[in-house]
Amino acid sequence: MKTAALLSLKDLSFLIQNWKRSKDTIAFVPTMGALHDGHLSLVKIAKQHAKKTVVSIFVNPIQFGPNEDFNKYPRTFESDLEKLTKIGTDAVFFPNNEEIYPNGFSTYVYNREMSSDLCGASRPGHFEGVLTVVLKLFNIVDPDYSVFGKKDYQQWKLIEKMSLDLNLRTKVIGADIVREPHGLAMSSRNNFLSIEDRDKAAIIYKSLTYGKTLYKDGCRSVKEICQAVKSKLCEEKKIQVEYLELRQQDLLMTFPNDIVTSPAVVLVAVRLGDVRLIDNLELN
Ligand code: AMP
Repeated sequence: MKTAALLSLKDLSFLIQNWKRSKDTIAFVPTMGALHDGHLSLVKIAKQHAKKTVVSIFVNPIQFGPNEDFNKYPRTFESDLEKLTKIGTDAVFFPNNEEIYPNGFSTYVYNREMSSDLCGASRPGHFEGVLTVVLKLFNIVDPDYSVFGKKDYQQWKLIEKMSLDLNLRTKVIGADIVREPHGLAMSSRNNFLSIEDRDKAAIIYKSLTYGKTLYKDGCRSVKEICQAVKSKLCEEKKIQVEYLELRQQDLLMTFPNDIVTSPAVVLVAVRLGDVRLIDNLELN
């Protein structure tokens, strides 16, 4: 098996120019590494859309707050490369910090409406860091398609909006969440959970599913659905809810009059010990 080409910024730019000359389409999957089946599902979708697939692995320092887990973030490059090779990735972009943020870097991307909401409320600057690196990566890779997981629902929506607002060429695709057998959404941060806490975390998906059942049974009250999901979540005493919100899928706006009238999504962030977990479920 040919190992996926591992490229610096200069080599990647050269390869991309060649592909463009041959009129090859490109699909792109940005990641921070520590790859699991959730990430690989995105690569599979990318491969279905374009002739060439690029995956980036970059633990983006500017999206981590001062008290967050940047230094602790799992780095498993060898096994990541193996997985990407096996699945048939054409190029892996593994830049170093200086390639992305050279000395004196000072331009950032910010969404005035959505960056400070939901996850942004407890992680000031997080989405600014995400949008900035994603726009840079888009400019480097110039993909026809880019694939993002709905696991990070707000991030996906913000990137769609950036793409619209800034006339980006790439078509942004949202990919369904891949879960562990007991329902926990796969995440690199699950590695920080003890085996007992992983089991406890299964209540997150159970609670979201309970909310969906209420919706399917005809409940349209935002308050009722949120309260029901929250009380189910709190059955697990170790879980602390950071937020639990029912929003419109469109731009994650709240529902006027607290009544669900358009496609909705329940979004949740919790803490389980030291580990922060997010999840969501579309209701319709
Ligand atoms: P990360 O490496 O955590 O920045 O994630 C890279 C991409 O993989 C993002 O678009 C995530 O939303 C996506 N992703 C992470 N976990 C999952 C999952 N369990 N299912 C689907 N996509 C995921």
